[in-house]
Amino acid sequence: MEKIVALCKRRGFIFQSSEIYGGLASTYDYGHYGVLLKSNVKGEWWRAVVQERDDMVALDAAILMHPKTWEASGHLEGFTDPLVQCLGECKRRWREDHLRDEQGDGELRCPVCGGELSEPRQFNLMFETHMGPVEDEGSRVFLRPETAQGIFVNFKNVLQFARKRPPFGIAQIGKAFRNEITPGNFVFRTREFEQMEIEFFVPPNDAPDWYGTWMEARMRWYTELGIRPDHLRLREHRPDELSHYSSATSDIEYLFPMGWSELEGIANRGDFDLAQHAAHSGEKLEYVDSATGERYVPHVVEPSAGADRATLAFMVDAYDEEEVEGRQRVVLRLHPRLAPVKVAVLPLVNKDGQPERARAIYEELRGRMPAEYDAGGSIGKRYRRQDEIGTPWGVTVDHQTMEDATVTLRDRDSLEQSRVAIDCLGDELARRLAASWLTPKTSG
Ligand code: ATP
Repeated sequence: MEKIVALCKRRGFIFQSSEIYGGLASTYDYGHYGVLLKSNVKGEWWRAVVQERDDMVALDAAILMHPKTWEASGHLEGFTDPLVQCLGECKRRWREDHLRDEQGDGELRCPVCGGELSEPRQFNLMFETHMGPVEDEGSRVFLRPETAQGIFVNFKNVLQFARKRPPFGIAQIGKAFRNEITPGNFVFRTREFEQMEIEFFVPPNDAPDWYGTWMEARMRWYTELGIRPDHLRLREHRPDELSHYSSATSDIEYLFPMGWSELEGIANRGDFDLAQHAAHSGEKLEYVDSATGERYVPHVVEPSAGADRATLAFMVDAYDEEEVEGRQRVVLRLHPRLAPVKVAVLPLVNKDGQPERARAIYEELRGRMPAEYDAGGSIGKRYRRQDEIGTPWGVTVDHQTMEDATVTLRDRDSLEQSRVAIDCLGDELARRLAASWLTPKTSG
């Protein structure tokens, strides 16, 4: 993980937030390549769950919601983690359930100083603030701890305009906030993060089948984008782990550097959410079939993923070190669809008309795909930089280019170099990009 963190800082993917003030714990800012990478992750999610389906629509709900939402959803009462504090030297705070997993059933001790621990108390993870100039009970609002509730409260709006009937789903990407007791592991667990959530509404009897269908579809999404299948697994929750509303939940787990950890949760939530919001709002939240007159409260299958966790997983899985001609090379073997930059155009030397020619090629290519022009420093250093940000192809303009209008096209993974005519370059890169969709990345 330290290597990933260092690479992220060195190459401008992710920075510590407010670093000049000493940093704000477990809060991160995305730099240029991080923004592009995460936005590609989100773009591929939109493509898979909305663009390529007939049964999904998109939504972007506000972060601030009516406080009654959180009463109805159960978050006000129950969105808590058990907090214990070290009574010994270090006074650190821990999640009791995490310590229990690590230390078993006996008496728990502080993992840092071995001190005794306080009795657990339930700590609510919602961030609270006030709306308007008066800070009283009536102005209390919360930063949403999940995007899902914005979907449930819009169920009726969507049903009215979208001309959909169950099974259909609503997809949303947005920020969520949780005052986590023990954030950490870089962007794996932060207090402000982005979720990619689907609420899929189905006739009650069909929920178990859809639960299976979504597990399969979501697993496939990660592997098609290059995650090694043996670094991915589905873990079904034990009955004692299930939330009160869930009849079945499975986590898609990824083998992060700290071990197998949740990447995405898929839950069969029954009619809990719509029934709760109907009861608290007085609105009927049900589906009425206009042909048969049948009415029912749809059941919900929820695939809920983290955009930051997914981005981290894609980076971890893509990270590779190898020796090439006696030198160490660090390379991010990102799937070309996810790579922030698809092609770098590099003049071999900074003279003889090569920079101008390279720049012209770059200007032509960037209209078709994210491209970068780099004329600074030795060619080796420039390749190393592109390898570290995961650019799948490099185009080098050299003396031969000036004679026969061809360039060298270098492949990031195989390091194979081929000569391509400038006229065909755009088409050749588009062809390779399309082909990458069908072939998983070469494993690192
Ligand atoms: P965990 O058990 O890791 O706390 P959770 O089960 O509470 O996670 P969910 O409520 O199911 O998580 O949230 C869905 C997804 O949102 C998670 O799979 C994860 O990808 C992402 N997520 C949740 N909490 C965080 C966080 N603090 N930082 C980054 N991503 C998060």
